[in-house]
Amino acid sequence: MPQVCPHCHWSGDRRFCPACGAALWSPDTDKGAAECTVVLSFDVDGSSGMINRDPRVEHRPSARSFGDYGPTVAVPHILTALARANVPASFYIPGWVAERNPATVERIATAGHEIGHHGYLHEPPATLSAEEEAEVLDQGSEILTGITGQPVAGYRSPSWELSDVSLQLMAERGFRYDSSLMGSDAPYWVGAGESALVELPIHWALDDYPYFVFAPTDGRRLQAAPEHVESTWKAAFDELHRRGAIFTLTMHPYIIGRPGRVAMLERLIQYMRSKPGVTFSRAVDVCNAFASDWSSAKPG
Ligand SMILES: [Zn+2]
Ligand SMILES: [Zn+2]
Repeated sequence: MPQVCPHCHWSGDRRFCPACGAALWSPDTDKGAAECTVVLSFDVDGSSGMINRDPRVEHRPSARSFGDYGPTVAVPHILTALARANVPASFYIPGWVAERNPATVERIATAGHEIGHHGYLHEPPATLSAEEEAEVLDQGSEILTGITGQPVAGYRSPSWELSDVSLQLMAERGFRYDSSLMGSDAPYWVGAGESALVELPIHWALDDYPYFVFAPTDGRRLQAAPEHVESTWKAAFDELHRRGAIFTLTMHPYIIGRPGRVAMLERLIQYMRSKPGVTFSRAVDVCNAFASDWSSAKPG
C-alpha cells in the first residue's frame, strides 16, 4: 500500500518522502533495508573561518597554522587514505583557501573527487546581505572553476547558516544541490518549481568539529578519543544502514587529518564497506541520481 507523506502529501512506496525528506511510517520502516550510501565530505576551511570571525587572526601565526595545516599537510594524508580504500569523496573549499593552495585543489580534483563551493572567506550567508551573498557565490565559483576547469554543482554553507535567500541565489546560478540543512536522513527537495534544489542533509553528530576541536580561547577544552568518535559514528551508520538512508560525514582536514584520526577514519571506512549493500559516492552523484529518480516528486 502506498504511503502518504503527512508533511507534504507525496504518495508512494518509500521509507523517506523524496519531496520533503519526512520519514514515512510502515511496520518495516526501520528494518530490513540493509543498504546505505556513504558520502565522505571534507570542508577544507584552512584558517579562513578563524579569519572571518576575527580578522586579527591573519596576524597571529600560531592560530593561523592551526588551520593552514589542513590544506598543506592533512589533505595529502587524507587523499592517500581515500586512494588506499579506493573510495571517492567530496571536498568543499572556500575561494580564499583555493587561491592560496591551487595545487591542493588540482590534486583533489585529479584524484576524481568532487570540488564544491564553501564561500570565499568562509562567510556564513546569514551574516551577509543578499548582494554580498550573491557576490561571494560568484567569486567562489569563478576561483574553483578557474583551477579545475569544471563547473561547481554543489554548495555547503560555511557554519551551516543559510540565509532566507540562499537557495534562490544558488538555483539562479545553476547549482544542482545544497548540503547545509538538517531536515532528514536522506536527500530531499528544497524550494519549488524552477528554483527547486536537492538537499543532501548533514548533522552536527556526524561532524568532526564538535568532538575534536580544542580551542581554549573559545572555551573549548575537551578532545574526544578517536575510539569514542569511531563508535559514535559506527552506531549512526548501523542505524542508517538498517533504514536504507544516507550516511553523510562532514570532516575538516585540519581536524580529522591529525595523527590518530586519519587511522580512525580508515578503520571506519573498512567497517562500513564490510557491510552488505554499502556504496561510497560523491555528493554530486547522489544528488544527480536523486534528481533524476525523483523528478516527479519535485515541488511545483
Ligand atoms: Zn513529504
Ligand atoms: Zn567550513
